[in-house]
Amino acid sequence: MLQVFQVTPRIWCARRPSYLTCSYVVSAGCGLVLVDAGMDSQGRDMERLLQQSFRARPEDVRAILLTHWHNDHAAGAAVVRARSSARVYYHPADRPQLTRATARPGLRGRLADAIPEHGPLVLFKGLLGEAAPRAVEADRLVSDGEPVEDDFEVIATPGHTPGHVSYVFRPEKALFAGDALAVVGERVRFMARNVTPDRVEARRSMERLLEPGREVDVLCPGHREPMTRQVRERCEQMRQYLRGGGAWPLLG
Ligand SMILES: [Zn+2]
Repeated sequence: MLQVFQVTPRIWCARRPSYLTCSYVVSAGCGLVLVDAGMDSQGRDMERLLQQSFRARPEDVRAILLTHWHNDHAAGAAVVRARSSARVYYHPADRPQLTRATARPGLRGRLADAIPEHGPLVLFKGLLGEAAPRAVEADRLVSDGEPVEDDFEVIATPGHTPGHVSYVFRPEKALFAGDALAVVGERVRFMARNVTPDRVEARRSMERLLEPGREVDVLCPGHREPMTRQVRERCEQMRQYLRGGGAWPLLG
């Protein structure tokens, strides 16, 4: 079952109960923009998100901004791009997985293909196959600090994957953090340790996301729940914890 709900007047979220993975649609100046593209490689999750939010279709999407290559975030990108000619953006360090250059041949690849997309093993599916389920080319490879489609800005946030990036939607001061951090209950937290291969980089990335000048009013993470209230205060709490050298708990 897919849950679709509104976050702000211009942002809607689609969430799968397995892993509570969140993808978003944003009504930006250029038109409709997806931030991540759901875990259904046929694009059905994004179809429902677009329909229930802005009464739109995949054909109406103008751009797709991917935070990283993992299946639960990027699976729907190839199909939406094929139907809409949307411009696709991601970081070059995740390109080998997104274009399936890394896809495993033989038994390992076949096993990965056999795992269902919506079940609890979906993460395993991507890691076993070491690639997104359908290859998707970028129309532009992004790097830190670049503007994208006028309204967005890229923040490089490696750690969870080498090419992980976050995006700021400037008109609403909304931060799409992907899996660079977690929101649990009313707090900003770490991601779980076991899904963060490079914790030194990941910690640095979190510090960058939470730096004081950024003024985040809406925090849209890659899992669980967007945060829309007291966001600056809660970011500040986590920033202080990081500055004080706070430990990274096992489950984040
Ligand atoms: Zn991930």
